[in-house]
Order: sequence, then structure tokens, then C-alpha cells
Amino acid sequence: SLYNKLLELQGNIRVFCRCRKSTKSESCLDSVDEQEVAVVQKGSRKKFQFDKVYGSNSTQDEVFAGTLPVISSCVDGYNVCILAYGQTGSGKTYTMMGTKERPGVNIRSGNTVSMLEIYNETLNDLLSKSPGSALDLRVQGKSVSVPGLTQVQVQTESDILSAMEMGEKNRKIAATKMNIQSSRSHLVVALEVEGSDEVSGLTSRGTLTLCDLAGSERISKTEATGQRLVEAAAINKSLTALGQVFSALKCNALHVPFRNSKLTHLLQPSLSGDAKVRLNKSFI
Ligand code: ADP
Ligand code: MG
Repeated sequence: SLYNKLLELQGNIRVFCRCRKSTKSESCLDSVDEQEVAVVQKGSRKKFQFDKVYGSNSTQDEVFAGTLPVISSCVDGYNVCILAYGQTGSGKTYTMMGTKERPGVNIRSGNTVSMLEIYNETLNDLLSKSPGSALDLRVQGKSVSVPGLTQVQVQTESDILSAMEMGEKNRKIAATKMNIQSSRSHLVVALEVEGSDEVSGLTSRGTLTLCDLAGSERISKTEATGQRLVEAAAINKSLTALGQVFSALKCNALHVPFRNSKLTHLLQPSLSGDAKVRLNKSFI
């Protein structure tokens, strides 16, 4: 699975786990330690190791504090990517976006922000004044860009929050129009950050990419038909592609198959070279 692939990667990738409080009937958690979680599924007990585990009583502030070192390296000119992976309802959106009263890990300072959604391999600009037109990816040398993607200038935490609120609203409108649930698309928020070194006077620019991935649950072919089946196939394709990218990075493969999905292609600059990645795997 994606989890196993990530775990094998050392160095620039960290895998954190956050457990969510749950009703007894759905809980599969058996024990939670500093770096290990045990899960009981179908009567068998499995252990998973992480760089760090946040228990079900962990607060948004604690999780944010844990991400600060990675977020800070963005100011030093690194591309940083934080992905939330897990089944629907496990707490990805809560961890990444949070609520008004309890904001998630999403950024608290920056320069410009953009927000897009990948649904069925189509990119939708969520901060556009006239949302709804699909955008494309453009490759120029080592960079991958999305021409036409709206970038909003932001200075303060509240600027970022209002931009994201607008994006969330557009996402809901689009979802309602097309009859989709938000957990069936990937949400990608990119924040451009500029840092300056007071001693040297040099400035550096990095990008922090936050991904609230579509739910990782398997949808059996018998349950899904029509549009649901197409969605499930698109999600499966992109999460599989993400796993393949991590596998290739792990063995320093000459060819990393970034272009197998829109998600991995878009994330290429954040997943290669100097980039740092952090994956939040959510457990119920
Ligand atoms: P996902 O995005 O993975 O589908 P959500 O983030 O929407 O899941 O979480 C499902 C529900 O559980 C939401 O109502 C959310 O507010 C709540 N929730 C998730 N994680 C926590 C947490 N750590 N503490 C309190 N409530 C949580
Ligand atoms: Mg969600």
C-alpha cells in the first residue's frame, strides 16, 4: 500500500499518523504509542510504525506544531508538500483545513495562494471569479505550471483563510452542480512563501503544497455504477500513481512516472529534487 511504500523511504519524507476519536462500533484501533499504532481488522492485529503518532486527544495546535519545522523549510526555499491520506471520515479535512474555531495545519503566513480540485483527472480552479472551466498542466523544463490558475495575494493568516473559504464555497457549488461529494476529489492548495535572510539580505522562495486527498476506501465494482464507478477509477488511478512515484523515488529510479496522473504530475516539483514531503495518514 501507499503507507508501506512511504515508510520505506527515508530522509525527506516523514509519515505521521493522527487517530480520531470514534464510536466503538467503527473503531479498529487497538493501541496507540508514540511511534506505533496497532489495528485490529477481521480478527487479526497489525502494527504500523510512524515517525510520530498523534493520539485521539491531540489538538490542532499540537499537530500544527509538529508540522512547523517542515513548513519553515519552505521559507528557506524548499518545496514542501503535506498530504493527508486515509478513508472518508478519518479526519483528513479536519487535520488539513480544520474549522473556523479550530484551524488545521494550513498555513498561517505567505505571499500568494492558489486552490484547485482534481476531479476525474480534470483540474478546476477554485479561486477563479468565474469557476468551472477546466485547466491544463504545462511543462517547462523542470517546472510544471497551470496556466490561468488564479493566484490571490495574501499577507496575513486571515487573508489566507478568506481565500480558502471562497475556494471551499466554489468547490461546493461545483460539486452540487455535478452531483459529486467533496471526498471524491483531491484538493490541492499551494502557497508561495518568500523568506529573507536578515544577515545576507538574500531572499528565497518556496512553495508549500497541501493536499487533502480523495478518500482511499475501495469502492467495489458491484456497489458503484455510472458516475460513481468513473470517480472510483480516477481516484484509484491517481492514488496508485502516487504509490508508484514513491516506489520509484525510493530506489532512485532514473525514471519516476510522474505523468501517470494529474495529481502526481502537478505535485512533481514538490516531490522531486530538494522537496520535503509529509504524509498525514488518518486512522479512525
Ligand atoms: P475526511 O476528510 O477524512 O473524510 P473529516 O475531516 O471530514 O474526514 O472528518 C469527519 C468528521 O469527524 C468531521 O465532522 C470532523 O469535524 C470530525 N473530526 C475528524 N477528526 C477530528 C478530531 N481529531 N477531533 C474532532 N473531530 C474530528
Ligand atoms: Mg474530507
